[in-house]
Amino acid sequence: MEYIFKIFRFDPEKDKEPYFQEYEYDFLPNVSVLEALIIIRNELDSSLSFRYSCRGAVCGSCGMIINGNPDLACRIKLGILNTKEVVLEPLANLEILKDLVVDMVPFWKAYREIRPYLHSENKFPEKEQRISEKQMERIYQFINCILCACCYSACPVVSKDENYLGPAALAKLYRFVKDPRDRRPYSFLKKINTQEGAWGCHTIFKCVEACPKDVRPVDGIEGIRRKLIIEKLKRFFGIKK
Ligand code: SF4
Repeated sequence: MEYIFKIFRFDPEKDKEPYFQEYEYDFLPNVSVLEALIIIRNELDSSLSFRYSCRGAVCGSCGMIINGNPDLACRIKLGILNTKEVVLEPLANLEILKDLVVDMVPFWKAYREIRPYLHSENKFPEKEQRISEKQMERIYQFINCILCACCYSACPVVSKDENYLGPAALAKLYRFVKDPRDRRPYSFLKKINTQEGAWGCHTIFKCVEACPKDVRPVDGIEGIRRKLIIEKLKRFFGIKK
């Protein structure tokens, strides 16, 4: 089937304004958007820039806006788009480096801020520290996050406030806060007890719609809010545990 790709182009070193470039090519419907991009670049236009790595929805590199929705280009087959016109744009809320490649620095900065690792009391435990299956179930969906930034791109709060940590970082924080092995101090949680942190989300659920791995970042954000309220009440009433 003859597909028409309309691809966002912008090279800040050459172009004054972004524009869309059209490419027509005969693809089978079981070809993914990423495979189609690779063919277009190899056969029609070697100047086209996009990012990818694993090709299997694991690395999170090929996030882009496909016909208006943030998604992974490797995951979407042309056939399921139900149209022969495919419009590709870079992820929103991030600066464009070239064509479909965005600068991920603000996304990674927010991720680093939540210190995404277990804060354990004992750095050298004598035996493996396990958690139960039930405890694992509570955090499992957040472990599945591949840090593709599709939710960050879809988030209307990020688009208005560049200091907001965003759905992926907050969801990952919940993954650790809810882990019984994590012993991060309350002083750390207090740092995200702000509009730029846990209270910035307007629960619009765009992050849930955008996530290609079925993570529900908004659930994690709600969980952090609950934890903050409980910790505050405990301190108010002098409850130790
Ligand atoms: Fe991507 Fe989903 Fe993780 Fe957001 S929560 S970064 S959309 S995998």
